[in-house]
Formats: sequence, structure tokens, C-alpha cells
Amino acid sequence: MIDFLQLPESKRYRIVNAGVPTSTSPANPEVDATEIFVEAGLISEPHDGPVVDLRGSMLLPAFTDMHTHLDKGHIWPRSPNPDGTFESALATVQADRTRNWRAEDVRRRMEFSLKCAHSHGTRAIRTHLDSASPQHLISWPVFDEVRSDWSGRIELQAVTILGIEEVDDSDKFTDIANTAAKFGGVLGCVTYPVADLDRRLDIFFSMAAERAMDADLHVDESSDRNVATLGSIAKAIMRVGFEGKTVAGHCCSIALQPDSQVSETLDLVAKAGISVVSLPMCNLYLQNRLNDHTPRWRGVTLIHEMRSRGIKVCFASDNTRDPFYAYGDLDMIEVLRESTRICHLDHCADSWFNSFTTIPSEICGFTGNNLLPGDSADFVICSARNWSELLSRPQMDRVVVRNGRTVNRKLPSYSELDDLMEEE
Ligand SMILES: [Zn+2]
Repeated sequence: MIDFLQLPESKRYRIVNAGVPTSTSPANPEVDATEIFVEAGLISEPHDGPVVDLRGSMLLPAFTDMHTHLDKGHIWPRSPNPDGTFESALATVQADRTRNWRAEDVRRRMEFSLKCAHSHGTRAIRTHLDSASPQHLISWPVFDEVRSDWSGRIELQAVTILGIEEVDDSDKFTDIANTAAKFGGVLGCVTYPVADLDRRLDIFFSMAAERAMDADLHVDESSDRNVATLGSIAKAIMRVGFEGKTVAGHCCSIALQPDSQVSETLDLVAKAGISVVSLPMCNLYLQNRLNDHTPRWRGVTLIHEMRSRGIKVCFASDNTRDPFYAYGDLDMIEVLRESTRICHLDHCADSWFNSFTTIPSEICGFTGNNLLPGDSADFVICSARNWSELLSRPQMDRVVVRNGRTVNRKLPSYSELDDLMEEE
């Protein structure tokens, strides 16, 4: 369908008959035939430049991937997860980090992931960075260098990640928060149901507020229904009067809790203005994994119930080829395809598509990408005319356009990282 696609050499052209998504539901009209005008790398007001006729091929705004782990990516060959469980993932990553995460190792794996994401049509990424001391002194400066190298191709943000038991009023945690603040970062941690959770959350949100940082936490990534810290986070936000944006990632165990508890927690989440990011592929891999048993649930959070209460819900990649997820390539079309199937995003009255594009971009504060005049001409054209065609194939023949020009989509070879995978 798009074999013919050759964008004009001209800096000014218009695309006609582009299929722009209006819904992810087969029951509704799926795409609108739309005209898109491009001039000097931007979406522009209508003009009469040379015409590119897409004949109904779908055109999607370039993607935002708001929850990734670029620093962990691609360590799988040297540090595979021995049994696929969350506990083994934690222990294996920790050992690999201590042994191998020098600046050059982190930098090369980050760059590899960014090449993949760029090739697949992603324009903005938020990554968590393992920030337990002293790793923060290595990874944050590397991230800052990579961010400036990639400026103009992928807009980057980073978030600290460390266990809530390391969040306290010590100099150690203050130094971690200061380092992240210095690099324009977001403050994050992983909550567990520890005895003094409320005290630690108060310190966490006060620390973020004092530095005018947003917050982004890993929450209740567990198949144990007794792990229930999401409501405590909401209460802490209101107690502290935290005015930054807060994102809660995962929130798996709430799906296993009784309705009354769910209802109470979601009311608090809505009231505190927390946005939720679901990571369905990673959840499917780690949750409910019991050796030699068949998994009985999908591991994902209550996305439909959350959205119907007005809570903003997004989807993202999470890990790639590391002990938390053995697969993945930072391909948001894969995330869209798999999330649609895992979470039943189809057959809904309202489209979920913005949960992969404009909503994450707005929550993170990335530059706008709504295919409106003045936005960068950043979009992805697929060899598909509707959702059924789009979600049935991997769309490896997609055309990625950035600043109005077609991107060379050659993916990096895995062998580029072979020398890093040799154990010393
Ligand atoms: Zn994560």
C-alpha cells in the first residue's frame, strides 16, 4: 500500500487521504481521511504544495514512551533471569549493576535502545535510572550526555528509582535527590508496605516539592493483594500539599483486591490527581509466575475502572531484554498492539489511542505532538487502513517521518553489544 511512498524533496508538501485514528473500536468509524500540511519541518496551515496521496494508509503521531529503563536495557545475554520471577529480576539486576554498570557500559546500552526507539517512530522517552548510591553518580551524568547527543531526535527525561526503604532524611537520599534535580530530573522510588511508609512518603514528597520536581513511582507491582500502597501515596500527596504531577506505574495488585477496597483507593487516586501508567507486557511476563503452574491472571491494573473515574491512564514499554522482561525493543506499535489485546482496549465507546501519544506527552511535559499547525512534522505512516490491519501485523514496513523528512529505519545489530556481554 505504501510501497509508492516517496516524500517530495520539497520542504513544503501536503498529504491527502491519510487515515488518522478516531477510535480503537471496531464498532465505530475507525479513521478519518485527513489532509496534513507540512512546511519547513512543521505541520502548517493549508497550502497548495506538492501532493502525497496515502490512499487511506494510517498516519499516527510519533510516539511518547513514558516509562522505560534505558540503563537496564539489553543486559539479558550476560544476566538472564533464571526463573522469570520478580524476586530473581531484582537480585539479578542488582548483581549486574554492581559488577558492570560503568559509564561506558551504561552509555552504549542506552544508545542502542534509543536507536531502536527512533527507528520505530518514538520521539520522546522518560526513563527511570537506578539511583541507589553510588550508581546515581555514574548514571545521571551519562544520561545527561546522551540526552544532549540525542537532542532533536528523541526528547529525554529521567527519574530516580530506589527502594522506599532508602527514602529518609539522611544526607545519602538528599544527595540522590539533589543529583536528579541538578539534571532536571523527576523524583521516583518503589513503594513497599513497610511499617513506616507514611513517614517515608512524607519525606519523599517534601523532598520533591522543595526542589520543584514531579514524582513518578513504581507502585504495587505484585500479585499479592496485601501489597496496597497506592492509597497511602494519594493520602501523602494531600497531606504534604504536593503540587507537582505524580505518576504511579504498574499498580498490579489492586486488580486482585475486593471491590470496596478498590473503590476507596480509586477515589483517593482521583482526588490526589495521580496519573497511572500501565506496563502490560512486563506485567504479563512477571506477574503470577509460579514455576510449573499456568498463570491465572494477566497482571495488569484496572485501567477501565480508572479511566471511567477520570484518572489519566497511559501505556508504555517498561523494560527491554533485561531480567524484568526478556523481550522488547521500545516499539510503541508493539505496546499498542499487545496492550489492546491484553487489556481489551478494543470494543470501547471511547478511543484509547491518546493514552499512547498525547496524554503521556502532556503528563511528562514533552513538546506537543498533536498534528496541529506549529507542531514538528513527526509521524508514522503504516501499511494499514484500519485497526484490524494495523494490529494484525508488526508494521515493520512503517515509514517514520521526523521534522518532515523520512528517517533511515535500519535497526542496530545485537552484535554491537557482544563485547559488553563477556563476563570479566
Ligand atoms: Zn519500570
